[in-house]
Amino acid sequence: MSEPYTPSKGLVGVLKRKLTRLQARKPFDCAQERFLVSFSFDDFPHSAASTGAQILEQFGWKGTFYTSSALENTANHLGDLFNAKDISALVSNGHEIGCHTEHHIDCALNSPVVIEREVRRNQQRLRKLGAPTTRSFAYPYGEASAAAKELLGCHFTTLRGVKAGINRRHSDAHQLNAVPIEGTAEDTSLPFSYIKGLGTAPGWLIFYTHDVRETPSTWGCTPALFKSVCTAVHEAGFEVLPVGEAFDTLRPVEKAA
Ligand SMILES: [Zn+2]
Repeated sequence: MSEPYTPSKGLVGVLKRKLTRLQARKPFDCAQERFLVSFSFDDFPHSAASTGAQILEQFGWKGTFYTSSALENTANHLGDLFNAKDISALVSNGHEIGCHTEHHIDCALNSPVVIEREVRRNQQRLRKLGAPTTRSFAYPYGEASAAAKELLGCHFTTLRGVKAGINRRHSDAHQLNAVPIEGTAEDTSLPFSYIKGLGTAPGWLIFYTHDVRETPSTWGCTPALFKSVCTAVHEAGFEVLPVGEAFDTLRPVEKAA
């Protein structure tokens, strides 16, 4: 199996990413009294739809599954990717299907014309699989550009990145922060430190992962870790909603004319 693509980690890439975070923003206040958590899965692997969704359902919660439709019935470093039955089971159980481009492209390196075609075709393929129109988008690899943010902001209500953080007062709905759940319960404390952080003030904490397996990829986690993150969120008493629904609860109060 070939090595998975990873975006440049060089200084130019780092600086470009910093600049992009300041550009084409959609200012959004996520600190409106609520303590919100969303769980999301990217790409997404079959194990996310089976094991991941099942764990969420044990808590009575729904997740957001950011889908690249060209990955249907394929396999890669994340294990088997989703199939048509996964989509229909998720939809009938009330989970949200989000957009992740058709071919999992790096949006920082592709032109708006290509990105536009990718999201339209993804939408068409997802519709054929029985998914409702997607309104939540996650950047593959977390990679964005000002042009991509502007274009995608016309198609989706939220765009999610991979910069770790809690979305609070001055967040950007065109590049929401998100915290990874990766590895095993023994080797990570990151998700738990963010759960503790959310407890200090209202905000929106979005988690993301990929495969949920006993031997996960670098980008996935074990069922035990996923479950213990859910348990910690449950014990903290936070409200858990898919990304689209969480966004709806945070709509700004309408100002009097
Ligand atoms: Zn992805």
